[in-house]
Amino acid sequence: MTPVDQLRELIRSARRAVVFTGAGISTESGIPDFRSPGGIWTRFKPIDYQDFVSSVEARRETWRRKIETDKSMTVAEPNRGHLAVAALVRRGVVSHVITQNIDGLHQRSGIPAEQVIELHGNATYAKCLECGQRHEIGPIKAAFASDETLPICDACESDLVKTATISFGQAMPEAEMRRAEAATLECDLFIAVGSSLVVYPAAGFPVVAKRNGAKLAIVNREATDLDDMADLVVNAEIGPTLGGAVGLN
Ligand code: NAD
Ligand code: ZN
Repeated sequence: MTPVDQLRELIRSARRAVVFTGAGISTESGIPDFRSPGGIWTRFKPIDYQDFVSSVEARRETWRRKIETDKSMTVAEPNRGHLAVAALVRRGVVSHVITQNIDGLHQRSGIPAEQVIELHGNATYAKCLECGQRHEIGPIKAAFASDETLPICDACESDLVKTATISFGQAMPEAEMRRAEAATLECDLFIAVGSSLVVYPAAGFPVVAKRNGAKLAIVNREATDLDDMADLVVNAEIGPTLGGAVGLN
């Protein structure tokens, strides 16, 4: 059996599966990942939460980068990998998609928002760090583009308005962590897709699933830290692999 056939078989014999995704599932949509050659971290060092909160210059640099990364994120469309995952959700095989991604492409591929658990937030809108008020990105970018004016919250006047993502050093979202843990404990197949599985606590979910008796499948172009504990490792491109295993044309 080819690895794609083996993945199809694992999915066929699953009662309830969870798909866990990282930046790798979106590279075929034109959004670079962090750790591949040419990935975001070969160009930028991440800005910690503390630096964002304490430094005006770090906030400016954050919004400069946001404008840069939006050039690929705002035009991206879901690819074959996203569509294969959406098909499994529609068929009732996959109960939840737990994602580290912040691009919103799982929801755009047709998966109901309540079945997508975003561990690292969402970069398609912003939030006030003081009062939680939601802010749209468009007006913020327009004001910033003219003279690097930083956004101010119209509800509480705080100047700490950040994309609704989780930065390094920022607390993980509690409700999402709980929902992800519950979904993980209820599945009998956990499929990790396009993640180097080195960012914790997110990368802990495959480990929890496996220890709880679920089968673990990993689809990633290169080796990951958890390959040794997996029942199946497919080192290949995500779109053709998931598309083939799910039977998408
Ligand atoms: P990562 O960059 O650490 O790992 C991505 C993995 O996917 C790599 O191992 C790479 O080899 C693999 N990969 C890339 N394209 C692939 C393809 N087409 N087929 C098969 N494998 C492929 O990403 P991560 O583990 O998700 O963690 C980094 C953090 O980066 C996450 O917390 C996430 O929030 C953030 N991030 C998100 C996006 C996004 O939303 N699209 C993009 C970049 C980074
Ligand atoms: Zn506010």
